[in-house]
Amino acid sequence: MRKALVIGNWKMHGLSSRNSELVEQIASGIEDEAFSSVDIGMCPPFVYLQAVATQLAETAIAVGAQNMSQHASGAYTGEVSAEMLVDSGCGLVILGHSERRAIFGEADVDVAAKVQAALQAGLLPVVCVGETLQQRESGEATAVVVNQLEQALSGLSADNIARVVVAYEPVWAIGTGLTASPEQAQEIHKVLRVSLYDLAADTADTVRILYGGSVNAGNAQALFAQPDIDGGLIGGASLKAQEFIAICRAA
Ligand code: PGA
Repeated sequence: MRKALVIGNWKMHGLSSRNSELVEQIASGIEDEAFSSVDIGMCPPFVYLQAVATQLAETAIAVGAQNMSQHASGAYTGEVSAEMLVDSGCGLVILGHSERRAIFGEADVDVAAKVQAALQAGLLPVVCVGETLQQRESGEATAVVVNQLEQALSGLSADNIARVVVAYEPVWAIGTGLTASPEQAQEIHKVLRVSLYDLAADTADTVRILYGGSVNAGNAQALFAQPDIDGGLIGGASLKAQEFIAICRAA
């Protein structure tokens, strides 16, 4: 069976003093036993990765970045490589978030290159896919997410596909308070699972597919109870210690 995974995506929020308080509250609020059934990660902005990683060093909570460069090193002003993330204490990285795609023009080929670079560096890539409201309303949701998944994982061996986490985040549900219903989410997760089978029949069952988009303490349990929802990628609610703890407990 797949172990649940809950990841907090802080986005561009938080300053040092507030961060250490949040990390302390979350780390001390989650009982050791919880980690037998759920893996937990936190993704602060780049500049705070090392500090958060140091603070979490004695815990089972992983630290991750929200993006990275597809390049290993070189003249790429403003970019951060996979190796630098590992060096800063990261174990995972969110790739292809819809905000990266929509605001910063990240294309599927970029996401695919980043996935390869992350795997090469030993990071766990969390690959985000999701349709816009317009795409959903015109009946394209399934085709959009399957295409994003196939492109992001193109060229990967079955063994490498087993080392990826997928996050389904309908764009219309991110930061809007509109959550996909458990049934709507499960429907897409099932489709993604079937696509994973097509890509890597032997390992598809082991890949965790997270749901993201306005997950909170009130709706987490029903979402996580779906057979193909293996945890969550949490934005706004990951900035509130008690709420994030409750979501981790629900997983
Ligand atoms: P949200 O964000 O939980 O605030 O909707 C989720 C995400 O963008 O990862």
